[in-house]
Amino acid sequence: MYSIVSTAIIQGIQSIPVSVEADVSDGMPMFEMVGFLASEVKEARERVRTALRNSGFVLPPKHITINFTPANIRKSGSGFDLPIAAAILAALEKVPKASLEETFLIGEVGLNGKVQPVHGVLPMVAEAKERGIRRCIVPMENKSEAELVAEMKVFGVGSIEMLVHLLRGEKTEEEETIFPIEEKESAADEPDFADIQGQKMVKRACEVAVCGMHNLLMIGPPGSGKTMMAMRIPSILPPLDEKEQMELSKVYSVSGLFLERKGLMCERPFRSPHHTITAQGLAGGGVVPKPGEISLAHKGVLFLDELPEFQKNTLEILRQPMEEKKVRLVRLQGSYEYPAEFMLVAAMNPCRCGNYPDMHKCHCTQTSIERYLGKISKPLIDRIDVCVEAPRIEFKELRGDKKEETSATIRERVVQVQKIQQERYAGESFCFNSQIPAVKIREYCRLDDKQEAYMEQIYKRLTLTARSYHKILKVARTLADMDGEEKIQNRHLNEAICYRSLDKKFWERV
Ligand SMILES: [Zn+2]
Repeated sequence: MYSIVSTAIIQGIQSIPVSVEADVSDGMPMFEMVGFLASEVKEARERVRTALRNSGFVLPPKHITINFTPANIRKSGSGFDLPIAAAILAALEKVPKASLEETFLIGEVGLNGKVQPVHGVLPMVAEAKERGIRRCIVPMENKSEAELVAEMKVFGVGSIEMLVHLLRGEKTEEEETIFPIEEKESAADEPDFADIQGQKMVKRACEVAVCGMHNLLMIGPPGSGKTMMAMRIPSILPPLDEKEQMELSKVYSVSGLFLERKGLMCERPFRSPHHTITAQGLAGGGVVPKPGEISLAHKGVLFLDELPEFQKNTLEILRQPMEEKKVRLVRLQGSYEYPAEFMLVAAMNPCRCGNYPDMHKCHCTQTSIERYLGKISKPLIDRIDVCVEAPRIEFKELRGDKKEETSATIRERVVQVQKIQQERYAGESFCFNSQIPAVKIREYCRLDDKQEAYMEQIYKRLTLTARSYHKILKVARTLADMDGEEKIQNRHLNEAICYRSLDKKFWERV
């Protein structure tokens, strides 16, 4: 007696189809499972056997073989319990085999027969739909997540007993779970740039950074509003389109952060990990690999406050994903890839006390300042496009009742500038000025002879690296786009140089 069930495993945020076959025959009584299994999958044998017994199905003394295909992929995770249980029940003819045809199953099972939620249901069900499957059975807690996939009939089960009723087509008292209606924060509570008085320069830098998706560093004393401004950056990013919402939701699904949600992720994330975070927490990883903060910040903002306090090796981890827009983890069972297309926003005090270079107030020694700034490596600084000083807020600014621009107004401009870039780079593999590869700089950031000569001087005077020189040109490209100019003007170059010379001011002596 044979049966087969469709399920899947997650690698990165990709779902890979797996089939679970069960064969029950006469012969020496035993229960074996084959097909390149991780230890937690091997343990499923005992878990499923006990769960079935506690649900009223004692396994007969027969030869039971469970086979997982394809054989070349290592099977990990605990989501196979439910497919194994269903396959055995069908092979034993306790449930009709036809009920499992073209049905996708996933779920963990407790010893008492209760079905537990699993991570990654959204990408698995989405992939099953692409394969032509139109029915899925998932843990009750994952039901609303699976229902986000259109044209998929979703059944949630809370126990093996419910699964059996469902597969037999028996009527049960429908366990309708009533979700509270998602409380949408009223727009008034959302952070808005209009809340911040003054800081014109920093706001300008934020807008420039967002327009070209450049990385941003704010340097300034405590209380200058760096964090407040960083928090408001998602409010001026263009809204996520449907494809982006789905992609981001998959990352959150795999991370197990989706259970309490109803509906796709529709806001751009703002992640602000504490400086004690480990390299693994930032990049992702673990025995059962999970996306890190940089992937949770996908399509949004990764904010690193007090940048020099982060472990140096933790920050170095950022370099590769910042270039590639994704993070790759190599594991025994293969390599995983998580998307990590985030905008890096960092903030720091200029010294330990926060007042440097105001020597009237700063009491730090030269060595201490150097040590503090030296914690940030040159290659990391080189990867930051826009560097801006956030001065202490003047008292008159603080009390000012000047009406400040709202995030919505700024966002309108950002959308326009990003549209210019999308049209320009339509045939390219990148979308924003910050992503122009070195070989294309000349083509897209064209300078005239005079400007070339000027930039040569700057290159020498600021002892720029090739990378930081390119950053200046890319930012100048963004500034030109903001002015609706096809050609980069001198004022654009000068402003872009300003965003670069600040790091000189602080790091020159280090
Ligand atoms: Zn100081």
